[in-house]
Amino acid sequence: MLRICDSCGVIDEEPRHMHLNAPGTVPVNAAQVASVGARTDLSDEDRVRIITDIMDTEQILKHFACCAAEGCPDGTCGSN
Ligand SMILES: [Zn+2]
Ligand SMILES: [Zn+2]
Repeated sequence: MLRICDSCGVIDEEPRHMHLNAPGTVPVNAAQVASVGARTDLSDEDRVRIITDIMDTEQILKHFACCAAEGCPDGTCGSN
């Protein structure tokens, strides 16, 4: 399933580390919403799901490598 990476902005099917924060604490990246909304290579279903993920203010999705590079909050990424 195609997902956004909140760190690098790449959309692919690589596994993600999903963090749940307190509701309303994750800022929405408006530039990412605009760029995903303009993609014509995504199906409507993918585009809606990805934009919903970006607009979600409590969920963070990052590639394991991106998460590790930014300091994984629970230490499960990047130790190997
Ligand atoms: Zn990434
Ligand atoms: Zn992580």
